[in-house]
Amino acid sequence: MTTELRRRLVELTRDLVTMKTTEFHPEEINRCIEFVKNHLEESDDIDIRYYSPAGVPSLVALPQGITKPNILLNAHLDVVSLAEEVPYRSFVKDGKIIGPGVGDMKGELAILLEVFRNIHAEIPDASLGIAITSDEERGGEHGIKYLFEKEGVRCNLAIIPDSGSLNEITIEEKGVIHMVISAEGEAGHASRPWMVENPLERISDSIYQIRSCFKQMESDNDNWHPTFATTIIHTDNEAINRIPEKAEAHCDIRFPSPHTVDSVLSIIKSHLDEDMSLKLIVSSNPSHLSPDPLFVQITEEITGKPTTFFRAHGGSDARFISSLDIPVIMSRPIVGDTHSVHEWIDIDSMETLYHIYMKYLRKKLFKGDATL
Ligand SMILES: [Zn+2]
Repeated sequence: MTTELRRRLVELTRDLVTMKTTEFHPEEINRCIEFVKNHLEESDDIDIRYYSPAGVPSLVALPQGITKPNILLNAHLDVVSLAEEVPYRSFVKDGKIIGPGVGDMKGELAILLEVFRNIHAEIPDASLGIAITSDEERGGEHGIKYLFEKEGVRCNLAIIPDSGSLNEITIEEKGVIHMVISAEGEAGHASRPWMVENPLERISDSIYQIRSCFKQMESDNDNWHPTFATTIIHTDNEAINRIPEKAEAHCDIRFPSPHTVDSVLSIIKSHLDEDMSLKLIVSSNPSHLSPDPLFVQITEEITGKPTTFFRAHGGSDARFISSLDIPVIMSRPIVGDTHSVHEWIDIDSMETLYHIYMKYLRKKLFKGDATL
């Protein structure tokens, strides 16, 4: 049955998908921010603040007179970059919307926009804000991190539908390190490799040692231990018979508690020689999200199913909020094939999550409960 809500959620999601909001299309990101802003402006008495550090736009919409909302909804409108020829279109089939970015997280953004508008229409003084950013897929540095660290955005609780599933609520996320290891040396002729210390081979030896060390930290069957992946190895060299003077490797490391950025880095540094350098691109400690029991209860009531707690291997913007001891609720509709051309989101579960949010927010915000 097509309800008005269902029609609106599908239409809004599909409109959002048509904007190719990847890091390589800043003009599309700007267009999407403008689209979202227009949508939020339909609510009365809302102040919208716009930020653009390093040209990465984000906005925070708050009820007039409120600087620290009780609850802050959060979504990112950027999507991962697929091949340039991939069309940014969607279609509806078998109860799903299929298209780039529908599950991560344009469909969820559509839900939050509807929730924000409808809660403010129902409860005029609701202490509910929304923050929309555009760089989550690149680490969140100029988005949520900037808003909380530099602009002092705060809330008592945040809702981010960017991990888990309808009945799987995320309680932990691994920490992350993105880094570049560089090695310098002298160039040489490859027919006389004993003359120079090949930087490329020094790097690959170090990586081999680091990987052996990570292997020893493997602890269980569901991979809830530190992992190490080399994603790019690079030199400027173009000649097969020449040893390069410089090489670098890009690595992605994930780790659960009790490991920390510092403890993982000290392991890595112990395997680098003194002519190697390490540059951190992204680093954050593992997070604990502590979901509200009332949210769990409402999820179970509305879905008629038990919930489970989910541990996420990937990180999200939640880390920048939970690190300030602000609880974060993370669940999302049923989605699949994220970061691919076939990415999908189940429409029934979008409606269900909308109803879960509405019920939860009515309970939290109607009473003017400021302390949570
Ligand atoms: Zn996401």
